[in-house]
Amino acid sequence: MPGINAGMLTLKDLERITDLVRRYEVPVVKITGTQGLYFQGLAPEKHAEMMQELELPAGLVHTRNRARSVQACPGKNWCKYGTRETEHMARAIAEMELDGPLPCKVKVGISGCRMCCCESWMRDVGLAAEKNGWRFSFGGNAAGRPRIGDLVADGLDDEEALKLVKKTLNYYLKTAKFKIRSARFMERIGIEELKKAVLG
Ligand code: SF4
Repeated sequence: MPGINAGMLTLKDLERITDLVRRYEVPVVKITGTQGLYFQGLAPEKHAEMMQELELPAGLVHTRNRARSVQACPGKNWCKYGTRETEHMARAIAEMELDGPLPCKVKVGISGCRMCCCESWMRDVGLAAEKNGWRFSFGGNAAGRPRIGDLVADGLDDEEALKLVKKTLNYYLKTAKFKIRSARFMERIGIEELKKAVLG
């Protein structure tokens, strides 16, 4: 289900979800590891109808000009340890239109302090707040072949971080082969090559 704001649900969201669950007779709703909602056990005809209502693409969802999932911790607004706000960054990245379709799914993890609850190092795009600004890592992965992302830059303010994320994703989509995740891409090209392309 799209439109969930980094796992933050309002009363309106909950009412919308309840309405969908009732009308489509969804047996179980799963909260996914990436702060999404997964409606399980739908009958095929109801599934097709719901896809249409939610305006979801019928084909591969990762072949589009946006990151597939953006997760964020509560950040400074809601967590006593937070040093930076995370919600607006999550929204900005979720809505970020890139220059073309991404080669493969891109997951984003945004953490509001060094404790890194959103496992930013293990996401394709990782942002974690430090004393001097955002730390940005790229090429992390938590799946069967885990990888810690490469540090691209740190000490970034919000605007710098968003610009650099966009530039990096645009470089990735223009350079990587179809279906190559950022972790495998970074193993091939190396951090220095990426830095040369996106910094400076
Ligand atoms: S990363 Fe920091 S700010 Fe975010 S939930 Fe964890 S402790 Fe709180």
